[in-house]
Amino acid sequence: MSYTMQRDLFSPETTTEQTTGLFADVVFDRPLDHPFTYAVAPELRERIAVGKRVRAPFGRGDKATVGYCVRLSETPPERQVKDLLGVLDDEVLLTDNLLRLTRWMADYYLCGWGQVLNAVVPAGARDKAGTRTLTFVEAVPEAGLKELPTGETPVSPQDRTGETPVSPQDKTGGTPVPPKQAAVLELLRKAGKAIEQRQLMQQAKCGPGPVEALVAKGLARRVARRVDRFVDSTHGEETPAGPVVLNDDQLGVWNQLEPALKQGGFHAFLLHGVTGSGKTEIYLRAIEEVIRQGKEALVMVPEISLTPQTIQRFRGRCGEVAVLHSHLGNAERGGHWRRVAAGHAQVIVGARSAVFAPAKRLGLIVIDEEHESTFKQESTPRYHGRDVAVMRARLENIPIILGSATPSLESWHNAQRGQYTLLSLPQRVLDRPLPHVGLIDLRHEPPKRGRPSAISDGLDYAMRQALKDGGQVMLLLNRRGFSTHVHCPSCGHVETCRFCDLALTYHKERDIMLCHYCGFEQEPQRNCPLCGQSAVRYQGLGTEKLQVEIEERFPRYVVRRMDSDSMRKPGSHARVLSAFRKGLIHILLGTQMIAKGLDFPNVTLVGVVNADMGLHVPDFRSAERTFQLLSQVAGRAGRGPQGGRVLVQTFTPDHPCIALAATHDYVGFVSAEMAHRRQHNYPPYQRLARIIVRSRDQQAASAFADQLADAFQRTLQTLFAQSPPEVRLLGPAEAPVFRLKGYYRFHFQLQSPSAALLHQVLRDVLPAQRMPGGVEFTLDVDPFNML
Ligand code: ADP
Ligand code: ZN
Repeated sequence: MSYTMQRDLFSPETTTEQTTGLFADVVFDRPLDHPFTYAVAPELRERIAVGKRVRAPFGRGDKATVGYCVRLSETPPERQVKDLLGVLDDEVLLTDNLLRLTRWMADYYLCGWGQVLNAVVPAGARDKAGTRTLTFVEAVPEAGLKELPTGETPVSPQDRTGETPVSPQDKTGGTPVPPKQAAVLELLRKAGKAIEQRQLMQQAKCGPGPVEALVAKGLARRVARRVDRFVDSTHGEETPAGPVVLNDDQLGVWNQLEPALKQGGFHAFLLHGVTGSGKTEIYLRAIEEVIRQGKEALVMVPEISLTPQTIQRFRGRCGEVAVLHSHLGNAERGGHWRRVAAGHAQVIVGARSAVFAPAKRLGLIVIDEEHESTFKQESTPRYHGRDVAVMRARLENIPIILGSATPSLESWHNAQRGQYTLLSLPQRVLDRPLPHVGLIDLRHEPPKRGRPSAISDGLDYAMRQALKDGGQVMLLLNRRGFSTHVHCPSCGHVETCRFCDLALTYHKERDIMLCHYCGFEQEPQRNCPLCGQSAVRYQGLGTEKLQVEIEERFPRYVVRRMDSDSMRKPGSHARVLSAFRKGLIHILLGTQMIAKGLDFPNVTLVGVVNADMGLHVPDFRSAERTFQLLSQVAGRAGRGPQGGRVLVQTFTPDHPCIALAATHDYVGFVSAEMAHRRQHNYPPYQRLARIIVRSRDQQAASAFADQLADAFQRTLQTLFAQSPPEVRLLGPAEAPVFRLKGYYRFHFQLQSPSAALLHQVLRDVLPAQRMPGGVEFTLDVDPFNML
C-alpha cells in the first residue's frame, strides 16, 4: 500500500476511536529519550508487534517517518493521539533481550533509543537485501491437489496476488501431451519437488512455452518462494584441527570454567594469557560445551582479526558458523543475520556489532582481545562493544569470557575487585619460550652521513642473520604514507590540511598530499607555496619510505608492505598473508595491521622501527596502548620451533611501557600504570564523560562551550552545596585537534567515581540546552578518543 493511500485512509475524520483499542509506543532515529504513542487502527492489529518497524506521522508537517514499536498497550493515552500509518516488517527483528539491551544503552550512553535500534539491525536485514522472490514450478500430483506447505504462496498465471489458486482441472481430457511438454513434466515428476522456473527451462532445454502450456492444462503449477541468495564469501580453506590435550595451565582454567558453563547463569571471566598460551583452545572447548547443550555461542573479535584463518578455526570445530561484520555487503550481512535469527547458526563470529546478533538461545559470549579500541564505536551510539556484551550476558543470564594478553585496565580493575573471575595462562604452549626482546637506544646511535636511516646497525645486522638462516622478518612502523610532513627548509613552512590543524602526509605511490583525519587531498608542490623558493623536503618516516629503504638495503629479498593504502583492493590482505605463510615474502613491513593475531611459525625476527610513535599523544591511554602494541607485535615472533626474537628501536627505553613490554611483564606494567591513573583521577578509578562542542564559527563554538560549562557548574554547585563535589568539571578548552574537518572544537570532561552521579548531572543539564544555529555537541560516555 502506498503512503498516500494510507494518508487518505487514516485522515483525521477516520481516526480510530480512542477510548479503547490498541496503542503503540514508537521511537525514532533521533536523539530523543522518550517514545511517542500512536493509535493502532484495527486493520493493523494483526500485523503490529513489539520490535517491528512502523511508519508514523512525526515532526514538522507530520512527515511519515520510520520508527520502531517498543511497547503495545490497551490503556488509552490521556490525549488524543495520531494513527500509525503502517507496519513495515513481516517478522519481528528484535528479541526481548535485545530490546532491553538497547533500552539500557540509550540510558547509559544518553542517546535516543531509536538511534540505538537503528544501529542494531543491519540494513541488509531490514530491507531483506539478498532475498528474492522466485517462481518455482511443480507437477500437480495426479491424485488431486496436495496441501501447499506453509510459507509458500501459489501463483496462477492470471493471478499473481498470492491468493490460493482455484483447483485446476486436467483440461487435457486424456489427449496426448506434446513431447517437449512431456519432457518437462517428466522432469518435474522425477524431481518430486518444485524447481525454479529458469533452472527447469535450462534442464529441459526449452523456452517458457511448454511450461506455460503445462500450467494452463493444470498439469503443473507455479509457486512463489522467497529465497536467500546471498553468496557467503567467508568460506576459505577449512582447517579441521582436532582438539589438543590441554596442558596443566589450561586444565586449571578449564576446571574453573566448566562448572559455570554447565550451570549457566551470569558469570564474567577475564582470561589473561600471553600470546600463544592456548586461549583460543579454551574458547573452542567452552563453545563446544554450550553447543552440546543445544545453545549458541557469540564470539567477538576485533575487525582486524576477522581473517579467514580465524573464521576457519571455528568452522573446523564448531558446526554452523555465521559471520557478522560491517565489511560484508548488505545482502551477505543480511543473509547471515537472518540465519542467526532463524536459529541456523551455532556460532556467531563477528566484530563490534555482532553483540546485537539476534540469537535466541545464547549460551556463551567470548570476546577475544577485549582491550582492543575497535570495540568502541566512534559515532552515535558511541557504545563500547565489550561493555555492552557484559550487559547482554547479564540479561541473557549466561557466562562471558573476556580474553587478552594485555587486558584493558578497566577489565583488570574489575578482576581485582572481584567483579570478574581472573583466569591465567602465564606460559606459551609446549614450553615454547616467549621471544627475547632487545631494546636499541636510538639516542646512542652514531650519526650517519647523508640521508637519515630508519634502521639502526643492530637491527640491520639481526635482519641479515635471520634471513640468512631461512627465517622471515616482520617490521612494524605504525604510520602510513611516505613522509609525515613536508617542510620548506628556507621559510619553515609546513603544508597543513585546509580543514584541520594537521600536517599533510605525502603518499608517494599515489603522488598526493593527504590529511589522515579528514581525507582531504591535494597535489604535492615541488616548491614552497609560501616563499616559492626552494625545493621542499619530505620529512618524517612513513611505511612507504621505510619500504624504499628496506628494498635498497635488501635487494635480494622479497619485501611487501601491509597498511590500509596497500590493502585497498578487496582480498589483498588475504593474498599477502597467504604468500607470507608460503614463504614467498621474506620481509613483511606494515602498520599495526601486521601486529595482531597472526600466527606465522617461521617469523624469527620482529623489528619495531619506532616504539615511541604513539607515546607522546595527549591521551591518558597512550602508555597503555604502546604497551599493548609492543606486546602484540612481540607475540608474532618465535611461534615456531626455531624460536625468535624482537628488537625495539626507541628514544625512551626507560619508560615503563617500553621497559616492561621488553620483559613481558604485564602485571608490573599495570601496577605502575594503575598508580598513575589513580593519582590523576582517570579510569578505571573514575568515570569520564567527554563533551565536544563544534562549529564552523569559532566564536559561536567558544561561546556555547562556555555557556554549557556554566550550566554544569551551576548544577554541580546545587548538587554538592555541602559536600565536596563528587563530580568534577575539567575545561572547557580547545580540543587537542582544535580544527577538524572545518570545525572548531572545544571540549570538556566530567569526572566522577560514580557512574550514577555522572549520569544524573548529564541528565539534569543536557536536555535543557538550546543549541544556537550552526553549533553542535557530542557526548561520549567512557570515551576512548581524547583528541
Ligand atoms: P592464543 O589464542 O593464546 O594465542 P592458541 O589457542 O591460538 O593461543 O594456541 C597457539 C597454538 O598452540 C595453536 O596452534 C594451538 O593449536 C596450539 N595449542 C593450544 N593448546 C595446545 C596444547 N594444549 N597442546 C598443544 N598445542 C596447543
Ligand atoms: Zn583534514
